[in-house]
Amino acid sequence: MSKMKILHMYADMLDLYGDSGNMEIIKYRCTQRGIGCVVDTYSIDSPMPDFSAYDMIYIGGGADLEQQHIADDLLKCKEGIAAAHASGVFMLLICGGYQLMGKYYRDADGNDIPGLGLFDYFTVAPSSRKKRCIGNIVVRTTFTGKPVDVVGFENHGGQTQGVKSPFGEVRFGNGNCSKSQYEGFFQKNVIATYLHGPCLAKNPEISDYIISYCLSRNEGSPVKLAPLNDKLEHDCRKVMLDRLVK
Ligand code: GLN
Repeated sequence: MSKMKILHMYADMLDLYGDSGNMEIIKYRCTQRGIGCVVDTYSIDSPMPDFSAYDMIYIGGGADLEQQHIADDLLKCKEGIAAAHASGVFMLLICGGYQLMGKYYRDADGNDIPGLGLFDYFTVAPSSRKKRCIGNIVVRTTFTGKPVDVVGFENHGGQTQGVKSPFGEVRFGNGNCSKSQYEGFFQKNVIATYLHGPCLAKNPEISDYIISYCLSRNEGSPVKLAPLNDKLEHDCRKVMLDRLVK
């Protein structure tokens, strides 16, 4: 039987707006299809895991303080995470997790929290803590091969610059920077985004892209997932789209 093995990093520190719910959604959508799903956790001072043994690495969002707390520990994982990424392990990164895979996050006081530098974007917060990108957001993506409007909630001071391959185009809200045209960062095995929600609960296409990517990589050939009844998710999203971008 097909199986997913996920490493959820810093679940106890980086869990803004219920970001850990993303793991519940992946488990639910696997279970509904008879696909096994194991989620291991890693946090500060856990034994060093074999990152490449996982199908997916997940990091949620956190405030500046939590990002500072985990920064040194995360740096210790750099080699393992870089090797896992290079081998094709999938990475889902939300907000603070997204920022820390870039070169650095510079906070409102001008202090740099080093990132892993896996990707060459960087993030700088404005000196005024009042200038934040907060609110509902709609992003037009094409990662599934056709246009899909994904919805979520953003709350970040950090302005992310130097993104060469964004996750999508902003239809409502801010995105990578204040009033930016683009949101997030995408590679075929990376979705990095400012979308809380949790974003997988609101956008089933993202979960299914990830599950299908991971299973296909394991099996060495494309895996087509059995459809689920997503009427409730689609109805909920339509309410937001009607309100925000109609
Ligand atoms: N601390 C970061 C910022 O404000 C990330 C916030 C978050 O993860 N929501 O930019």
